[in-house]
Amino acid sequence: MLVTDIYASREKPGDFGFADLKKAMLENYQNVQFADTHADAAATLKTSLQPGDVVVTLSAGDANKIGIQALEEMKLATAAETLTILKDEPISKYSFAMCGGPANELVIVESTESLVSLIRARQAEQASFKVVGGLSNILFSDLGFDGLIIINRTHDLSFEKKGDLTRIEVSSGMKLDAFVHACADQILTGMEWAARIPGTVGGAIYGNAGAYGGEIAKVLQSVKLLNSDGEIVTLTADEMGFGYRSSQLKRGEFGGTILSGTFELATGDEHLIHEKMEEIEEKRKKFNFKGNGSLGSVFRNPEGDYAGRLITACGYRGRRIGNVQVLDQHGNIFITYPGVKSSEFAALIQEVREAVKQQFGIDLTTEIEILSD
Ligand SMILES: Cc1cc2nc3c(=O)[nH]c(=O)nc-3n(C[C@H](O)[C@H](O)[C@H](O)COP(=O)(O)OP(=O)(O)OC[C@H]3O[C@@H](n4cnc5c(N)ncnc54)[C@H](O)[C@@H]3O)c2cc1C
Repeated sequence: MLVTDIYASREKPGDFGFADLKKAMLENYQNVQFADTHADAAATLKTSLQPGDVVVTLSAGDANKIGIQALEEMKLATAAETLTILKDEPISKYSFAMCGGPANELVIVESTESLVSLIRARQAEQASFKVVGGLSNILFSDLGFDGLIIINRTHDLSFEKKGDLTRIEVSSGMKLDAFVHACADQILTGMEWAARIPGTVGGAIYGNAGAYGGEIAKVLQSVKLLNSDGEIVTLTADEMGFGYRSSQLKRGEFGGTILSGTFELATGDEHLIHEKMEEIEEKRKKFNFKGNGSLGSVFRNPEGDYAGRLITACGYRGRRIGNVQVLDQHGNIFITYPGVKSSEFAALIQEVREAVKQQFGIDLTTEIEILSD
């Protein structure tokens, strides 16, 4: 028997309290435990329950929530236990750029419960970790990563019709392109611009991905975030502080892991939705990487100009260092070939920046994230 604190009903406060109850119960029962708070009670249950046990909660108040809380926590704990953590795993195997040295540890996570529980465990140990999605916008060093890389492949998706609009909740690890196609299948319009953008919904929210006039900030309603204190909070799109290819999260103004995004889309015309997506997919096909790697646009466009135009004007299209090259058709996209090193990618970035600085006096900043040693 587990007894929690009590509250006054008809008694006057001070007449009879938890201390009196504890004393009376200890005099009459042997198998009794006490918990001052509901969280303590849930923690006690979590450690003492065995498979097949039944929990019955008796309460005139809200102590019935204790069983539910304990169950949630137990689900989280078991979810993390079943994960396979790989040691010294080459990041290049997972990177869109095909480079990056070994991660001390790497794990692929498919459920939100596992993701939450794993991150909370790392936070509690103050151990280093990095959550990534498709690794299509991040360059890891050739020295690898000193900590745990969590590859997020959570993939829940739900649609709820609300009048003329449909509310969609999507897990952050779902592929962005799969999300775009799922919306089109439901004849919802607003995500067509993102067709064929690699990576995950989480990565797209983090960097406010955009293309062909659309961007995440225009369609996202809210985000479920596991914050740096291990709490799950809901932030509105405004609270994410989106800017051009950025968010407060990307700018490091607060930390956390995006667990899911809620979008609101209107029903559209099926034919027009597919026509628009095909048009965009056709445009993207002209950058044919033929099985080679890339991280998309390397630099942010400076105010009122295009990084691609500046790089082209410097004569850098086609410039190659080792196994990385500025694409022949676009100055702001680098293509990587098998065996590429992150240091070669970084060297080409540096060279291009210097050329643009020298010719135009403009300091290009990168759109991709660089995790250097
Ligand atoms: C060929 C090609 C074309 C591209 N075209 C476009 C384009 O048109 N428009 C555009 O905007 N981008 C484009 N990109 C860039 C990239 O695909 C997108 O920015 C994508 O949204 C990144 O998602 P990701 O899952 O790969 O992120 P990753 O590269 O895995 O991670 C990028 C950053 O996001 C963080 N992150 C990822 N998931 C989470 C999460 N759940 N919670 C918190 N942080 C997280 C990571 O820690 C990392 O800092 C292109 C890339 C390529 C290779």
